[in-house]
Amino acid sequence: MSFVTRFAPSPTGLLHRGHAFSALTAHRAAREAGGRFILRIEDIDQTRCRPDYEAALLEDLAWLGLDWETPVRRQSDHLADYAAVIDDMNARGLLYRCFRTRREIMEGIGQAPHGPADPVRPGPHAPDQEARLLDEGRAFAWRLSLDRAREALGEGWDDLAFVEEGAGPDGETGVIHARPETAGDVVLARKDAGVAYHLAATHDDALQGVTHVIRGHDLFEAAHIQRLIQALMGWPAPVYRHHRLLTGPDGKRYAKRDRSRTLAELRAAGMTVEQLRGELGV
Ligand code: GLU
Repeated sequence: MSFVTRFAPSPTGLLHRGHAFSALTAHRAAREAGGRFILRIEDIDQTRCRPDYEAALLEDLAWLGLDWETPVRRQSDHLADYAAVIDDMNARGLLYRCFRTRREIMEGIGQAPHGPADPVRPGPHAPDQEARLLDEGRAFAWRLSLDRAREALGEGWDDLAFVEEGAGPDGETGVIHARPETAGDVVLARKDAGVAYHLAATHDDALQGVTHVIRGHDLFEAAHIQRLIQALMGWPAPVYRHHRLLTGPDGKRYAKRDRSRTLAELRAAGMTVEQLRGELGV
């Protein structure tokens, strides 16, 4: 069986130990399986991604001793590919335009704008309102309608599942029944970028023949909605291996904003890759 895995960072900051753990885990899995390791730059959020972070992450990964196939796919170079998928889904009636702001949506479901989110399912605008907003040139996102997706899949909806060879945050493993409804009507094309993470990532996993998605269990819930997108598009379902998240001495997850723990800092402070690998156990 072929084995293709990937590390798919977003260049929104400097990489830290958590990224090193993820990249090393995926790279090692590919080596052990005699398979392929792909690096993909997920930079569709052009307000947060920066070329200097991309250059820095390539340097960090090379320092870790990783090698990867070239050319590296950079998502911002392929927006037309994602637009074609949006057009296709749209032609099949799976999407609806959403002009609402985050504040309007949260107020609509009685939640504070920055509070924990319930599944967001604002539904389509009334046709006359939509026509007026379009006329006014207002920006809109495309949301995936769970109702239309369910109709499109028919009985297949109940069989939606993915294989988890690692574990989710609550130890979920094995064949997992996918519950895309917990994510609500997700945005597949953002107002500002024309595409959003779930669509770009699943599209590229399919295009690049990724057989094993290896990443932190903070993205375990994403597998539920990504499985739905795969089913709707007839894309193959990769196997998932979600891994634990590293925490610092304070018990908190490493974050990109925490500059003192970046790989660049560790390197500058004289840490060797062997020491880091020993510490991470990978
Ligand atoms: N680009 C995502 C991130 O940096 C990872 C996406 C994925 O592995 O599916 O968090």
